[in-house]
Amino acid sequence: MERRNPDIWFTEYQTKHLRLGLSIKSVLANIQTSYQHLLVVDTDQYGRLMALDGAIQLTERDEFTYHEMLTHVALTSHPAPRRILIVGGGDGGTAREAVKHETVEEVVLVDIDQEVINASRRFFPSLSSGLEDPKVNVLAMDALEYIRGRSGEFDVVIVDSTDPVDFAEGLFREPFYRDVFRALNEGGSLVAQTESPFSDPDILTGAVSEMEKVFPIVKVFWGAMPTYPTGMWTYTIGSKVHDPEKPMGQTPPGTRYYSEEIHRAAFVLPPFVEEILQGRDR
Ligand code: SAM
Repeated sequence: MERRNPDIWFTEYQTKHLRLGLSIKSVLANIQTSYQHLLVVDTDQYGRLMALDGAIQLTERDEFTYHEMLTHVALTSHPAPRRILIVGGGDGGTAREAVKHETVEEVVLVDIDQEVINASRRFFPSLSSGLEDPKVNVLAMDALEYIRGRSGEFDVVIVDSTDPVDFAEGLFREPFYRDVFRALNEGGSLVAQTESPFSDPDILTGAVSEMEKVFPIVKVFWGAMPTYPTGMWTYTIGSKVHDPEKPMGQTPPGTRYYSEEIHRAAFVLPPFVEEILQGRDR
C-alpha cells in the first residue's frame, strides 16, 4: 500500500490578514528561551527555517539576499571599514558576510539571546560559520546596554534585529541612534533592516525619522526577500560623511545578490515608497 504523506505546515502570520505557509518535513527545535519562542523546522521549499515568536528570521535558501544587502551596501560605501558592530544577528549570516571584506579586522556581534546563537551553531552551519571566524567576537547581551557610553570605536554598525517589539523596540529609536552615532568613528555609518513598505510602512517611516534626528545623511534602499512579509524589504542607512549610494570598496567574491549595479539600483525607490517617505510626520 502506498504511504500517505502527512500534510504538516508552518504558518507565519505576516499581518492579521496575510499568512505565509510552508510545508515541513520535520521540527528540529521548539523551545521557549528566556526572551522568545524559538522554532527550527526543515521545510520542503526553503530548507531549514528559524522563526522567533512566530516570525521567520531566515531560511537556508533565501537568507543570502538579506544578509548580502544588509552588509555589503554599508561596508562598500565606507573607504576602509575595520571594526564592525553587529546588533542582533545571532544566526551569524551578517558576520559571515562582514568578514569577507579584506579591510575588516574585527567584528563584535551582540545578540541578547544565547539560545539563538546555540541553535544556529547546531542547525545552520552555513550561517554560523560567521560566528566561528577568528575575527568575530560574540557576546550574549542586550545591545542597548552594550552601546551606551561607547565612543569612536566602530566604522560600521549593522542592526540585524527582530521586529520592533519588546526588547528590540529601542533599536528603532533616537536614543539608540544617538548612542550609535557616538560609538562610530568620524566617517562611520549605521545600517538597519527597516521592514516592508507594504505591510509595515510605519516602522520604515518611524526609523527614518528617528535616524534623521541624529545622522546628517539618511537614505533608504531595498531588495527582494522572498520569505519576509510581502517579499519586498527595506534597509535604512545613516551616515556621518560618506554618500551610501556610491560603492567605493571592492565587492567581495562570490556574492549572489549584491553587485555594484544592484547597490546603485537599490537606492532607486518606487514612487509609492517615495510617497510613503514624503508623507511622514517630521
Ligand atoms: N534577519 C532577521 C529579520 O529581519 O527577521 C533578524 C535575524 S537575527 C536572528 C535577530 C536577532 O536580534 C535575534 O536573535 C534577537 O535575539 C536579536 N535582538 C533583538 N533585540 C536585541 C537587543 N536589544 N540586543 C541584542 N540583540 C537583540
